[in-house]
Amino acid sequence: MSTIFTKIINREIPAKIVYEDELCLAFHDVNPQAPTHVLLIPKKEIPRLVDATAEDAALLGHLMLTANKIAQQLGVGDAFRLVVNNGADAGQSVFHLHLHILAGRAFKWPPG
Ligand code: AMP
Repeated sequence: MSTIFTKIINREIPAKIVYEDELCLAFHDVNPQAPTHVLLIPKKEIPRLVDATAEDAALLGHLMLTANKIAQQLGVGDAFRLVVNNGADAGQSVFHLHLHILAGRAFKWPPG
């Protein structure tokens, strides 16, 4: 089932887009949890990470390398955190796979 992120991909609702290629799109989170908080999503509708298959291996690799590229582009390449919430109990609220790219403040470990 499509989510609000598909509407962003299709330009049906606005977003502050920072990166796009044929496989993925990145835009600023509307409710940022850090000075830099960007969401990176595949254009393919994969609801959760657990729904990805071996067929998606190249796409998942592309997302990781693109997260790196975006962090460099945003000038936060030396210190950033990637988060994937998988499932409602892990904090996932939008069921279209996405990587949170967070930077610009100190991060605690273990995460909350
Ligand atoms: P998660 O809780 O991991 O599913 O993350 C979903 C994220 O999407 C949250 O951080 C929301 O603030 C963000 N979000 C929801 N709607 C939008 C939107 N229209 N544009 C940008 N970010 C959004």
